[in-house]
Amino acid sequence: MTGTNFPSNYVEILPEVRAFLQSDLKLHIGGRWLPPISGAAFETFDPSTGRLLAHAPSAQADDVDAAVRAARATFDSGAWHLKLTPSERGRLIWRLAELIEAHAPVLAQLDALDNGKPVTKAQNVDVPLSAEHFRYYAGWTTKIEGATIPVSTSGMFNYTVREPVGVCGLIVPWNYPLLMAAWKIAPALAAGNCIILKPAEQTPLSALYLARLFEEAGFPPGVFNVLTGYGETAGAALVAHPGVNKIGFTGSASVARTILRNSADTLKRVSLELGGKSPNIIFADADMEQAVVGATWAIFGNNGQSCTAGSRLYIQRSIFERVLTGMSDQAAKIRVGMGMQKDQPDLGPVVSQEQLSTVLGYIEDGRGSGGETVIGGQRIGGSLSNGYFIEPTIFTQVQDSMKIAREEIFGPVVCAMPFDDADDVLRRANETPYGLAAGLWTRDLQTAHRFAARMQAGTIWVNTWGDTDAASPFGGYKQSGHGREMGKEAIDLYSEVKSVWIRVG
Ligand code: NAP
Ligand code: MG
Repeated sequence: MTGTNFPSNYVEILPEVRAFLQSDLKLHIGGRWLPPISGAAFETFDPSTGRLLAHAPSAQADDVDAAVRAARATFDSGAWHLKLTPSERGRLIWRLAELIEAHAPVLAQLDALDNGKPVTKAQNVDVPLSAEHFRYYAGWTTKIEGATIPVSTSGMFNYTVREPVGVCGLIVPWNYPLLMAAWKIAPALAAGNCIILKPAEQTPLSALYLARLFEEAGFPPGVFNVLTGYGETAGAALVAHPGVNKIGFTGSASVARTILRNSADTLKRVSLELGGKSPNIIFADADMEQAVVGATWAIFGNNGQSCTAGSRLYIQRSIFERVLTGMSDQAAKIRVGMGMQKDQPDLGPVVSQEQLSTVLGYIEDGRGSGGETVIGGQRIGGSLSNGYFIEPTIFTQVQDSMKIAREEIFGPVVCAMPFDDADDVLRRANETPYGLAAGLWTRDLQTAHRFAARMQAGTIWVNTWGDTDAASPFGGYKQSGHGREMGKEAIDLYSEVKSVWIRVG
């Protein structure tokens, strides 16, 4: 039906991808592929061209109910967390990681087409990190232990066990479609839960393809279900459903607030990974080349569409001009282009017309409040005028109080601001409702440790930016979220602790 007509400068679309786009896409519920009961569908586009890619099924409340019943039935039967041994569950998760790797080119093309990111980035970053996430948590299934507790009640033996929460609704965004899903699915699976995944409406494709890989790996039906659809319908129904024990969410703070309100009636567990306005501080003693390149990619990596984007850049006044010149040179060299073009660009478009308007709106607001763009600031036209392309943009003459310095833009826009002394910049860095990540560039060990201790954020990067690892916890202070993903912390996030008392005396 769709997705057959691609620009001539695109890499060859894989036959599997072509066939997938042309197939009649369905919801994945209880191990079966089902059309939505209403028959409703929504369109998903290639942001590099604005062209239609495919129609995805639009799940409504009755489909959500069907998926919850299926996931519940599997969970209650114990087919996943009780009838399989931890070792068997670990093998299946490992098998899934292998299948993700084996299908990497397909998954990478799907995310590149749906999200706009360069396909080489999807192939070399998003997909391997996703596979690695499953591998890491495959190893956890045999290591989820309880404890024996030395209680002071005589004649009592007390121990704890960790059990799965039950049915988990996982709601994810569009910036790293496969990877954001993997961050949640892998620990939820390892802890023994059954899952209903709701991908973002902008990027539904790789989630549906992933369900095929779950089938191929041989997971019991109902362990992994996928509902594509809108947040306001499918997402909201999942959040309100009494059969869902937990919601794991990544996205905006405003939707997170709605989710917390809508989860109140059922008091289900909710974990939230939200946005940020992360401060990135360059001291005059930093390795200048490292800091300039690092700060450039801290903001422009993935087009600024990262929850950890280094969007507030504080530069010590004595090196302000030098860093700005260096970053402007770097930014001018960044090649922006279509995610699937043969001559691979460094950055693709932003994800949607809506995101384009939002980011351009912030740029306009920044200029209107006295900010100056030293580079960028425009939509890119010419051969890219049908897509949603924005020039990498650096603002100066920015005050901390300005909207562009306070709100998450989620686009390739950085505010560069000078600072004079360390105490002052520390205060300014922490003056934000967010607290996802923060970083600094310095050769001074004392400054590094002092700032690592005092910056209010879940992740601190020193002389680096953007590193994550399945083994290391990740999440936000303040309004950047509730709970920690990755590492052993994510096992806690997706399990309940039971305390057992036995009279032995
Ligand atoms: P969003 O609206 O928060 O969407 C995230 C997910 O939540 C999507 O799957 C969305 O579905 C779903 N959703 C929306 N409304 C819902 C509801 N009432 N109940 C349950 N689920 C709901 O984020 P976005 O629209 O993709 O982007 C908006 C802003 O969010 C960005 O500009 C950025 O600031 C922030 N963001 C942050 C991250 C992050 O990594 N922390 C990632 C992406 C975006 P739909 O797709 O149908 O809306
Ligand atoms: Mg949205």
